[in-house]
Amino acid sequence: MIVRIKGAISNCYLLLGDKPMLVDTGAPGDLPRILAALKQHGVEPKQLSLILLTHAHSDHAGNAADLHWRSGRPVALHANDATLARTGKNGVLAAQGPLGRFIRPYVDEDFQAFEPDILFREAFSLEPYGLRGKVLPTPGHTNGSSSVVLASGEAIIGDVLRGSMMWPNRARPPFFCNDVDLNARSIVRLAREGLLRCHPGQFGSFPGSELGRYLTTGGNEVFELSGEPV
Ligand SMILES: [Zn+2]
Repeated sequence: MIVRIKGAISNCYLLLGDKPMLVDTGAPGDLPRILAALKQHGVEPKQLSLILLTHAHSDHAGNAADLHWRSGRPVALHANDATLARTGKNGVLAAQGPLGRFIRPYVDEDFQAFEPDILFREAFSLEPYGLRGKVLPTPGHTNGSSSVVLASGEAIIGDVLRGSMMWPNRARPPFFCNDVDLNARSIVRLAREGLLRCHPGQFGSFPGSELGRYLTTGGNEVFELSGEPV
């Protein structure tokens, strides 16, 4: 079971398998919502098998230090984002369009620096952590971006793509992307998994078929009256 925890500007996910796992830790200020969601589902922080970060931007790693301190549980992050974690800074936020440029000053905040307990470089199985699935490196948004691919056909994809603000079940480009070509290859990698449903770091989930549609349209932006790319 996948529980979406809505933060101020991003989602984290509580995965309830044989053992509970937290994917991402929200932005600074989101901690009460995360703790409330854990409590609502009967999960004590110390029961978490793992705290997995899809990447080390402030709206995903914002409470990693605090949650590690509360739970004593390991925080896992791809090694290519280790510098962001150690400095508590987002680094470069390369806006992909006008919306990204508009929101950048509001979302580019520092967060409490931390040393990840597990730094990985390759895909690895989550079976030892009580979940049937794996972590797959999906770089591009940041160099160390990763996704959680579950055996159920669902995936937590961080900011590889985002959901739409206006239309349910649609994939949109992330607001920021440091390497667009690399990110496109990561979308291909996810599409090859034959996913049924993708759960992004921002806005709502969308079917796995959106990955292919996004790739065939090239992510071309068409702006309608709302200003939201469709
Ligand atoms: Zn991000």
